Amino acid sequence: MTTKITHHPHAESLMSCSAGSMPEAFAAVMASHITMCPQCRKDLALMEKIGVAMFEQLEQTSVLQDAPVMHMRAAEADHGAIAVDAAVVQGGVPAPLQPVVGPDLTAIKWKRVGPGVAQHIIALNDDRANLRLVKVAPGQALPEHSHNGSELTLVLQGSYRDETGEYRTGDLADMMGDATHSPVADAVDGCICLIATEGKLKFKSLLARFVQPFAGI
Ligand SMILES: [Zn+2]
Repeated sequence: MTTKITHHPHAESLMSCSAGSMPEAFAAVMASHITMCPQCRKDLALMEKIGVAMFEQLEQTSVLQDAPVMHMRAAEADHGAIAVDAAVVQGGVPAPLQPVVGPDLTAIKWKRVGPGVAQHIIALNDDRANLRLVKVAPGQALPEHSHNGSELTLVLQGSYRDETGEYRTGDLADMMGDATHSPVADAVDGCICLIATEGKLKFKSLLARFVQPFAGI
């Protein structure tokens, strides 16, 4: 696999994952990305070494400015992006996800939710956040939307683009609640993403708002 990972979770997300304080849906997306991303595995190992307890005692601003992981990232920037670890992603499904969706993306039973968009809801015991696989047809745009809470999106296959850049296999989009974006799937490959959301998506256009209750997204 030649894909390079260029988008990673925020340091706060990695810390919260390391501290075990994330809802299950978010932890599943983080664990899947970490499985695919040698850089985040390295960052996480470093955080665990330093000790989460120490981070929790510091002011949030000083954590962000002084987190050793940020210095490490800056030092690594010159070396370019890191290749997706293909060995731990079989059938397009990262190892942490295989117990809940099976080993093969082509065997997923999709439910259509709109033109060119299908989803597969992943049932979890922890209902603080939702976890789903979303499959978007080549060139299909999703309506512009914002969120009631945070959203983590991991690309498992293909790619998409929005206002913040291009997201390819292994890339993770770490969005805060007030962010708005209009994703468009790759014109040739489309995309399959693993998405954890806190609260419902808020679509901006009237048509999308009308469709949302029926589409169940
Ligand atoms: Zn990463």
